[in-house]
Amino acid sequence: MAHSKGKFPLSAKIQAVRGMKDILPEQTPVWRYLEETVRGVLDAYGYWEIRLPIVESTELFKRSIGEVTDIVEKEMYTFQDGDESLTLRPEGTAGCVRAAIENGIIHNQVRKLWYQGPMFRHERPQKGRYRQFHQIGVEVFGLSGPDIDAELILLTARLWRQLGLLEHVQLQLNTLGSAEARSAYREKLVAYCRERFAELDEDSRRRLDSNPLRILDSKNPAMADLIQGAPQLLDHLDEPSREHFEQLTRLLEMGGVSYVINPRLVRGLDYYGRTVFEWVTDRLGAQGTVCAGGRYDGLVEHIGGRSTPAVGFAMGLERLVLLLTEGAVSRTELPLERYTPHAYFVAVGEAPERAALVLAERLRSSLPRLRLELNMGSGGFKAQIKRADKSGARFALVLGESELAEGQIGLKSLREEGDQRSFSEAELIDFLAGQIAS
Ligand code: ATP
Ligand code: MG
Repeated sequence: MAHSKGKFPLSAKIQAVRGMKDILPEQTPVWRYLEETVRGVLDAYGYWEIRLPIVESTELFKRSIGEVTDIVEKEMYTFQDGDESLTLRPEGTAGCVRAAIENGIIHNQVRKLWYQGPMFRHERPQKGRYRQFHQIGVEVFGLSGPDIDAELILLTARLWRQLGLLEHVQLQLNTLGSAEARSAYREKLVAYCRERFAELDEDSRRRLDSNPLRILDSKNPAMADLIQGAPQLLDHLDEPSREHFEQLTRLLEMGGVSYVINPRLVRGLDYYGRTVFEWVTDRLGAQGTVCAGGRYDGLVEHIGGRSTPAVGFAMGLERLVLLLTEGAVSRTELPLERYTPHAYFVAVGEAPERAALVLAERLRSSLPRLRLELNMGSGGFKAQIKRADKSGARFALVLGESELAEGQIGLKSLREEGDQRSFSEAELIDFLAGQIAS
């Protein structure tokens, strides 16, 4: 076979796909810290994980996200599989709703669900914007009141507080009203835009007939003036939606969460109605939204289920990691010790190496929470101590010929000054038990 004739000559390095990043071992502790903190908060509120496929029918996204949206128009990774058109999921709500309907788990019952994983969008890669990125999303089915909208927001506020990010994010809130209110408002907005047609950019002209609300979402600075002067949906709300929104803001005030109302917040997807919200930061440049969501009472029925109220949000993990490491908090302030070993076992000489392997197993059995890395590949004392230091461990355990002969294990602090101490196995277990507990 003539391999070398293709795009990649045999000698050429194969690189990652543009916009799809490796998350390296040096970075995964921050990811785990973030993910575990989120999971802890979700557990504390009684939410259940659902695991979903990464690939779904293209039709699912077209129908749920909407044909005239950035995602469906230009961002989906779609491919033909036999006679089926499939798409790598660009977001999680559609698949979650599909699974909930298909498995009959939202019929006549309340469900509070969350999921996590990669999403795919063919966008122009830049800081905080990738073609494969990761979200944790939450979806609640079967509740129509503002109390659940409030709970989702309180939950996220608690999460930011736990992560030390609360002072760096701002909650923006809006309501899109009922479908009827939106369509009445749409006519006013279209009339307004037609009067100022010359000021519309190309995207907005295209959206004027298909999805005019999205014009308000434009990030083009040339459109800012027109958007500023546009009629506001808030002034055209139906009474039940106004009531829902007022109750939500009251609950947030009672819960001590501050917000700003952003009348131009419309969200990019078709399925939202009533409550929409975003948590934004000014620390990440243009990619400032770290979490976004809202109510989508019409979607379940729209894709073939029984009418079911629903509300949810998704947070972008790359942006939160950026915020945690360079935006708001410095990486050194993060509690990442739990991802490094407590101790690194240095064993010098053939017999000590063999003894250390067995002793390390006994220590792990006695202390199930001990994180102990055993030196592999031999090496002199100095070289091993260097590795011990690099591992991030607090202590080096040391076993050489003399320790072995005396039935002792050396212990050297890697983070503080002090002489090497000497322990029997039982004393060492006691000492390490105390260290793990603190
Ligand atoms: P944006 O306006 O930044 O394009 P969006 O409205 O398209 O965001 P959503 O579909 O609401 O984003 O997704 C929820 C969250 O997922 C976003 O707030 C963001 O944190 C994250 N996100 C979305 N697209 C990307 C991407 N391409 N790369 C990294 N994170 C992303
Ligand atoms: Mg987008």
